Amino acid sequence: MNFHDTEKIVGILKREGYIPTDEPKKADLIVFNTCSIRKKPEEKLFSALGRLKPLKRQKPSLKIAVCGCIAQQQGSELLKRAPHIDYIFGPQNIGRLPHILSMDTVIMTEDNPELPLEDLPAERVNGVKASVTVMFGCDNFCSYCVVPYTRGREVSRPLKKIVEEVRALAEEGYKEIQLLGQNVNSYRDGEYDFAELLRHINDIKGIERIRFITSHPRDLSEKLIRTVAELEKVCEHLHLPIQSGSDRILALMNRGYTYAEYKRKVDLLRHYIPEIAITTDIISGFPSETEEDHILTIKALEDIQYDGIFAFKYSPRPGTKAAEMQEQIPEEIKSRRLSEILKLQDSITLKKNNALIGSIQEVLVEGKNEAGEPMARTRTNKIVILDKELPEETIINVQITEARIHSLTGRVI
Ligand code: SAH
Ligand code: SF4
Repeated sequence: MNFHDTEKIVGILKREGYIPTDEPKKADLIVFNTCSIRKKPEEKLFSALGRLKPLKRQKPSLKIAVCGCIAQQQGSELLKRAPHIDYIFGPQNIGRLPHILSMDTVIMTEDNPELPLEDLPAERVNGVKASVTVMFGCDNFCSYCVVPYTRGREVSRPLKKIVEEVRALAEEGYKEIQLLGQNVNSYRDGEYDFAELLRHINDIKGIERIRFITSHPRDLSEKLIRTVAELEKVCEHLHLPIQSGSDRILALMNRGYTYAEYKRKVDLLRHYIPEIAITTDIISGFPSETEEDHILTIKALEDIQYDGIFAFKYSPRPGTKAAEMQEQIPEEIKSRRLSEILKLQDSITLKKNNALIGSIQEVLVEGKNEAGEPMARTRTNKIVILDKELPEETIINVQITEARIHSLTGRVI
């Protein structure tokens, strides 16, 4: 979501006449779009700002902006550690960038659900997959999470606007659309829910693949699962963050489901869509997490057999309920639990990938990876290194010949 916000910022700046440069020395404006989901990005921001100090001294006309969730959360506090920032604005205020830039210095962190609804031009940097926002904000208040505070209340974009945007993207030649929202399952525009929205997008000529993130397990309905199964363009992959395998911890997290309820949804998904890949997010070391709770998470991983996970140590975020909880878990225990989780999942991922050797998979060519190898992606969102180069956006069948943890190798058929 942050990445797509950056695309909107670049889109607005281009419209305002700015030209991108890779060299900070040449820049008239430097914008940091920040994330505050965990603490680490904050530290990165301050060290990057520190490095710009001499440049700003040499060239006082250089403008430095900090936006995104750290800006929203800290506002003018940022100036204490980095007085050379000129503009501070939150994610809901991105549309006001032209106004902000017309002033000398600004702090703009207004929290107003109407603000982000304005349609913003986006300069998309990924040529193959286009992200489209379907809703802003979040009303869930999971006890560890900063998003409802930084991105504000949940608002859905009108279905008509989303469909118009996707049509325009299809005309530009995009084949894959990724719909974005913190909880797409609670999308609503009058009589339309998320399943209806998917149906409308599925009808758009030129679009070949539809993905979406993120689904909150509590709100994943059987209707939506059947719709995903039925619509041929919606890919066979679901990211369904579980966070923990312990019911006690899930309740403390305010997630609104038990492990048994979560598992039932996984079973339903696999019933309707046997080939579906399921991935998840895990937080290790949430306050008061015992060894027994941790083992329940390990058992959940063994039981569900995910295709992949994103796991992180719990990071206390200012202003959230969990940050105030007693019994914060020591760093070394968090780290040990996290590495047990990651190690187990690596073996599961490898086993699942190995099982694909010999199978035929439809892939969409994305270009090259960092090592310069031709790269494509399966409908289940797995990376395939190809045995030959093909033009971007080709959709073709490959036979899987090799498997690693993070990628497969495929022979173009
Ligand atoms: N709306 C999405 C998640 C957005 S945040 C959802 O509910 O699934 C992405 C992930 O970051 C979360 O799933 C969670 O695993 C992780 N996360 C959020 N806050 C965190 C924190 N304080 N510490 C560690 N991880 C966190
Ligand atoms: Fe955060 Fe929970 Fe909202 Fe996801 S659903 S953004 S984890 S509050």
